[in-house]
Amino acid sequence: MTDNTQPQATNKYRNNLKAFDYGNQFWDESERNGLAGIVANLVGDGSLETADGHRFINVSCCSYLDLDSHPSIVQGAIDALHRYGVLDHCISRIRIQIPALLELEASLSQLFEAKVITAISAGAATAGILPLLASGHLTQGVRPVMAFDKFAHFSMSLYKPVCGDETEVFTIGHNDMNALEDLCRKYRKVAYVADGTYSMGGHAALGDLLTLQEKYGLFLYLDDSHSLSIVGRHGEGYVRSHIDQVNENTIIVATLNKAFGTSGAAIMFGPKGKQVEDILTRFGGPMAWSQPMNTAAIGASLASAELHRGPELALRQNALSRNIQLFDEFIRTEQAGNAFPIRLVQLPNDKVIRSGRLLFENGFYVSPVFFPIVAKDNAGLRVMLRSTISEEQVLSMCELLRGCIES
Ligand SMILES: *Cc1c(COP(=O)(O)O)cnc(C)c1O
Repeated sequence: MTDNTQPQATNKYRNNLKAFDYGNQFWDESERNGLAGIVANLVGDGSLETADGHRFINVSCCSYLDLDSHPSIVQGAIDALHRYGVLDHCISRIRIQIPALLELEASLSQLFEAKVITAISAGAATAGILPLLASGHLTQGVRPVMAFDKFAHFSMSLYKPVCGDETEVFTIGHNDMNALEDLCRKYRKVAYVADGTYSMGGHAALGDLLTLQEKYGLFLYLDDSHSLSIVGRHGEGYVRSHIDQVNENTIIVATLNKAFGTSGAAIMFGPKGKQVEDILTRFGGPMAWSQPMNTAAIGASLASAELHRGPELALRQNALSRNIQLFDEFIRTEQAGNAFPIRLVQLPNDKVIRSGRLLFENGFYVSPVFFPIVAKDNAGLRVMLRSTISEEQVLSMCELLRGCIES
């Protein structure tokens, strides 16, 4: 019977009720088993330690190059605070800002060879940009239909209802270029929203996307958070390193809070960058409110950008690759052979928590994952390798994982 005292949900783009049904049980079980809600301090050798003295290493961390604890990056944050004497001006940057953010944006623009502006997070950048893209304000007044890849990160698909208020929104199959081309044929302008690099290692079909861009003027909004710093000579990421230049029909967004090792996000634009910047700083929701990246985050990011210019980046990228290869030699996963640091060790539902516990007790935190983080019936332990994990550590973790798989 319908309950007339509650408003009807349309659930055209999302359905919390369903997500809760699936997700809650697993989170509760993770917490009961000490695999969520862990509180721990970083101790000298890169390990973490809980208040009751349990030491472990974090093998589910997005800081793939371990830059977040790099001494020069931590020092960069401290130096910037001393230099500017203020954490934040607490006013929209469009009105008043300290020069620090402009210095960072100039540095990142040079590093990534595109016009770069920043936001406090990739999520905030997307929240600002997608609704303006939907209304045609980033496409010379031509309102595009929006085509979201089915697997687009939550931070993007979250804005389907908002975009749906400005234009028509479609969700198409993963990398379904035929569906995308059909839309391109039918509508004057199409904007495609997707990950540049997916968390489990695949990519957007960049070659095909560029062909569609050339043929139909397809607009690309690609979130390459997962590959920034780990791909490219200067860590410019998968998408940026595979295109000659960022043109006016492309925006790349990437968090600075993964391998880049700091906090905030970089948004890369084409030649109309200044115009886009004005639109975003005036109308870009969270990008126009009072909180830009704060001085500590800016100082850390300036230091990280410097590091991306020098030889240390390649050393860390190579160390990460070696750890990935080593892992692949011992544990077979669907991701084996790809260059990305994430591996899903699939396990039956009833084994996931038990296995996660065993690893944790032996000094490795590897997070249990389940729907809706991964597809249904695809539960397992998500291993995220880093550059400073030692060979010995990788080997003993693999041994434990093998025990779990075979038991
Ligand atoms: C991690 C991640 C984000 C979140 O980045 P924030 O800066 O924390 O908002 C967004 N998009 C993708 C693809 C990610 O992997």
